[in-house]
Amino acid sequence: MAMTDKPKLMEHDGMVCRSCGNEERASEGYPCADCGTFICLICSFRGVTRCKACEEKAKASQRA
Ligand SMILES: [Zn+2]
Ligand SMILES: [Zn+2]
Repeated sequence: MAMTDKPKLMEHDGMVCRSCGNEERASEGYPCADCGTFICLICSFRGVTRCKACEEKAKASQRA
């Protein structure tokens, strides 16, 4: 039996990033700085620390 196949019974830990909408592995993401929802690793590399909703709130409050 070949053992090169990827395991099919892995736990599904995917979560939808609340910034870009991609589904990424929850274990590789970060929580939103404000509300703690899931932000993917790719977004955090881009400097995103908040989900879309919190980012918009933050921008709105900065313009006051
Ligand atoms: Zn993302
Ligand atoms: Zn948030």
